[in-house]
Amino acid sequence: MKYQLKEFNRNIPDEELLEDIKRIAGKLGANSLSSREYNDNGGRYTSGTIGIRFGSWNKALKKAGLQLILQREVSIEELHKNLEHVWIDLGRQPVFRDMQKSSSKYSVRHYMSKFGTWRNALKAFIEYINSEDTIDNDIKTSKEATSEPTPAAELLFKHKTKRFPSERLKVQVLMRDGNRCRLCGITVTGENIHFDHVTPWSKGGETTLENLQVLCDVHNLAKSNLEY
Ligand SMILES: [Zn+2]
Repeated sequence: MKYQLKEFNRNIPDEELLEDIKRIAGKLGANSLSSREYNDNGGRYTSGTIGIRFGSWNKALKKAGLQLILQREVSIEELHKNLEHVWIDLGRQPVFRDMQKSSSKYSVRHYMSKFGTWRNALKAFIEYINSEDTIDNDIKTSKEATSEPTPAAELLFKHKTKRFPSERLKVQVLMRDGNRCRLCGITVTGENIHFDHVTPWSKGGETTLENLQVLCDVHNLAKSNLEY
């Protein structure tokens, strides 16, 4: 590549600077971009110029709609939690590309740097989801059992579990059933996924993997109408 002196131009509109950040990120197929990557991959301006204009490099990224470069290290727990969200949102196992465009808070690069490969990250995640301590997540602590208000169903049935499944339990249900309504087989994602108690909570059904199933909007509504 021929070396060209970077232009120092105060008159470039903000949008043009942002467009150029997006252009380089697009070129790299990334949903985030470090200042160094910008400079090394043919950015028209300098990261310094952009940083000064917007206050910081991260502020420029935010305006450009890209994910921020994190200063601190993200913990494995946080990465797993993030993956739980993405998995539930999609209703299925996220693939590499999903991490760029979905509700993911962290880019796939965070996973690569922690786990080596995306596949290893998924393996670690599945182990985490299936690990023993996940089960406790949905079981009431003795404090919760006494401090919670007691609806009628609670008086009839001493529930051992909490009313609403944890994110981990939701992922377990999706891993088992996929994101299809158990009654009609339609594919559901995001807010259209309902985690239904097979034996209704009001009839003593617990919030366990065995007693949960995926339902679509229609069947969830139909079922809750039946119950009352
Ligand atoms: Zn359905």
